[in-house]
Amino acid sequence: MQDILPGDQPYWDAVRLAAGRLAAIFGYGRIDTPILEEASLFTRGVGEVTDIVQKEMYIFEDRSGQELALRPEGTASICRAYLEHGMFNRPQPVRLWYLAPNFRYDRPQAGRYRQHHQFGAEAIGEEDAAVDAEIIELLWRLYGELGLAGLTLHLNSIGDQNCRPAYLELLRDYYRDKLDLVCSDCRERFERNPLRLLDCKQPECQPVIAGAPPITEHLCEPCAAHFSDLRAYLEAAGIPFALNPRLVRGLDYYTRTVFEVEPREEGGQSSIGGGGRYDG
Ligand SMILES: [Zn+2]
Ligand SMILES: [Zn+2]
Repeated sequence: MQDILPGDQPYWDAVRLAAGRLAAIFGYGRIDTPILEEASLFTRGVGEVTDIVQKEMYIFEDRSGQELALRPEGTASICRAYLEHGMFNRPQPVRLWYLAPNFRYDRPQAGRYRQHHQFGAEAIGEEDAAVDAEIIELLWRLYGELGLAGLTLHLNSIGDQNCRPAYLELLRDYYRDKLDLVCSDCRERFERNPLRLLDCKQPECQPVIAGAPPITEHLCEPCAAHFSDLRAYLEAAGIPFALNPRLVRGLDYYTRTVFEVEPREEGGQSSIGGGGRYDG
């Protein structure tokens, strides 16, 4: 984890101010949630067989034996707060933003700390792809305002409970006779979380991933229509994107839209932001 010394504070302030100003322009209200939550919120919300829950959460028992976790990501807490405070009784969608630290017991790497700071925005209660486009536009405008150039926005749809199970069977059929070619993590993903096969970074797995059937060719009609609407909205907003059928993200709650922003030059961590829809 890192200290932020006085000399660096002006940069942090510049990012905080730009994010807060832009979020307000987009109609988002600020929310702060506790750094500690019941561990089960994340186990259920993020998914039991994700890396975050299996390897990266800081979990401990408090003095009464209750299992708590340091927040590893933002969305689960926001959904808890949305329910707890009856925000479903308000006009929908409810638009919320936050800027807060998350904690992950991750392998320390260049540019990656076990406490990281996340600006996040959540819009809850709207089915139309316009809100997906709005969130992406907010992120894209923020990068623009911060002067970040040379970014690529990767976009994909990973379907929903109607079409994803059939795709996962297709993916398993494809991998079944290639398990001796992939890494040991992928052999476990094959059993427990096959969509994550597409997200493996090991070199030996790349040729197998490249030949996998793209999920976007196996979406049901409503998911395909939603994805087509999203692309039209982004084009209308002048936001350039790259379709990437291998993009899946490391959290189980996503449905349909997923996106990630990467600098074009590699170096340190590749992804600087991302998100998606979570209808479940
Ligand atoms: Zn692999
Ligand atoms: Zn679908």
